[in-house]
Amino acid sequence: MYDTIIIGSGPAGLSAALNLKIHNRDFVWFGSADMSDKVRKAHEINNYPGFAGVSGMELFAGFDTHREQMGIAITEKTVTNIMHASDHYMVLADNEMYEAKTIAVCTGVVNAMPLPGETEFLGRGVSYCATCDGNFYKGKRIAVYSNAPKYEHEVEFLADLAEHVTFFAAYPNPGAAGSNVEHCTDFPVKIEGGMKVERLLLKSGETLGVDGIFILRNAIAPATLLPKLALEEGHIVVDRQMSTNLPGCFAAGDCTGRPYQYAKAVGEGNVAAHAILSFLESNS
Ligand SMILES: Cc1cc2nc3c(=O)[nH]c(=O)nc-3n(C[C@H](O)[C@H](O)[C@H](O)COP(=O)(O)OP(=O)(O)OC[C@H]3O[C@@H](n4cnc5c(N)ncnc54)[C@H](O)[C@@H]3O)c2cc1C
Repeated sequence: MYDTIIIGSGPAGLSAALNLKIHNRDFVWFGSADMSDKVRKAHEINNYPGFAGVSGMELFAGFDTHREQMGIAITEKTVTNIMHASDHYMVLADNEMYEAKTIAVCTGVVNAMPLPGETEFLGRGVSYCATCDGNFYKGKRIAVYSNAPKYEHEVEFLADLAEHVTFFAAYPNPGAAGSNVEHCTDFPVKIEGGMKVERLLLKSGETLGVDGIFILRNAIAPATLLPKLALEEGHIVVDRQMSTNLPGCFAAGDCTGRPYQYAKAVGEGNVAAHAILSFLESNS
């Protein structure tokens, strides 16, 4: 069992990882090798101390070099579910279960609201993980909604299993291939069904009959990840130690609230890591 699982590879997650590494804690860090689009895409940053006018790509390069020099790896997996056992956490990342005494939620803010019906049908035709659930859709008709090209291999994986895949890509020039993959420029606005998903309502007013929909996003809302987490207006409620309402669960960065800023994220990641160290010491 790990001491900590860090979820999210932006500035908050990096800051938490650096501090836990310095203190020789055993952790796994989930996120993307690109760290965070919100770092890479910034044109010019003028409020990060010591780096006047730095571009997002330059800041990313600095973060990444620091990560590498400290010998810290990012495990490129998306966490889809967190379960709280009495004294530890179980984290599902791309169909693999990981366990840790504590967790640091550093997932940033989820810009996309869940689709109407998404939460209601989760596990009943809505899935966030192709590897976990793809086999349930052998020979069936499914839809995939994705907001990032990095999931295209998952679309192709699903196309090998399903009879037909309607692919809704929320980005330009999607590339997923397959004779049974239909690229659709319409957009699902509602998921409907009875006991299970049966159809999608599309923006055009059309209806698409499907047995399931895979929603492959960069980030998953905290309420979906860990339903017992206390939230206020969509943000995770934390105290000054970045502790949440669940023992051993800490949060840092944009996911805890405004202002959405690099310096706040980095500072909170640092505080969360030190609170985790104290928690581990007093619970060992
Ligand atoms: C264009 C732009 C310009 C900006 N300019 C500035 C600026 O000049 N100054 C400033 O202070 N701030 C600026 N910001 C805001 C700043 O980018 C954010 O405040 C900061 O990145 C927040 O860091 P974070 O670590 O909390 O979250 P993020 O940077 O959002 O990182 C979270 C990461 O976690 C990953 N993740 C989420 N959920 C999961 C999951 N379930 N499993 C695995 N990984 C997951 C996400 O994919 C993401 O990579 C800007 C933002 C944008 C978009």
